Amino acid sequence: MDTRVKSRIHRYDPTTEKKVSIYQPDQPGLMFPGIPEFSSYEQERQYLKERLVGACRAFALQGFDYGFAGHLTIRDPERPHLYWTNPMAVHFNQVKVSNLILADHEGNVVEGDYALNRAGFVLHAAVHEAHPDILAMCHAHTTYGTAFASLGKPLAPISQDAAAFFEDHAVIDDEAGQVAVEVKAGGSVAHHFKGVKAAIHKNHGLFTASRHSIEAAAFWFIALERCCQQQLMVEATGQTPSLVSPERSRYSREHVGSEYIGWLHFQTIWSELVVTQPDMFD
Ligand SMILES: [Zn+2]
Repeated sequence: MDTRVKSRIHRYDPTTEKKVSIYQPDQPGLMFPGIPEFSSYEQERQYLKERLVGACRAFALQGFDYGFAGHLTIRDPERPHLYWTNPMAVHFNQVKVSNLILADHEGNVVEGDYALNRAGFVLHAAVHEAHPDILAMCHAHTTYGTAFASLGKPLAPISQDAAAFFEDHAVIDDEAGQVAVEVKAGGSVAHHFKGVKAAIHKNHGLFTASRHSIEAAAFWFIALERCCQQQLMVEATGQTPSLVSPERSRYSREHVGSEYIGWLHFQTIWSELVVTQPDMFD
């Protein structure tokens, strides 16, 4: 059965002016990220692979590398049971279109020259398998996210940015410490990702999942890491932060925490990468 999710309606490419379509009807004729039209799976696949590389380069810029830890994935448009991901033991800053690998749910590489960090890929693959609607995921062992994850509690809405995650992320505190290396454990935590865009895995780190794009997953990961840092900074003062109310938090989440908004935020990073790191297309 073709489990391909038909929800990818917002495909924009700010770098190919000819393909730009105007999204905001109140600003006709002005440049705005637009949706490229794909005439073939090959064309869409190339687009998705380039954005996956862009997400990896963005992670490098953020300093999210920790040895070979960390996975970013996007489903193949033609074969949705397979995922493009970054190669084993290659720095995020050295990932390029030509060294991406295509893997299945079991962590077998079915296309590409590089190996996969199979042990670390287990949870990642389990989430994709359990949730056909999740198109892209990001995971890395970051400084603040991992520190915050040790607290085993959700992010507090201390700002509008943090409110983007209000009631939209899970805290996973079971199977911690062994999930990354056991297939069975990976499956046991996958259900936590239902309907949320992020998860804080206790004693492990952060995950984001997108039903929209790798760009959205990457931006919300960057945002989540930043929110963890900010909450830790506030709590380190010993003072109690004033929180955004639940009602206003939900409003913020709906208006500035959507998949599309995450995608749109990422376009600023993408526009910088295409100019400064043209080797990512190699
Ligand atoms: Zn991990």
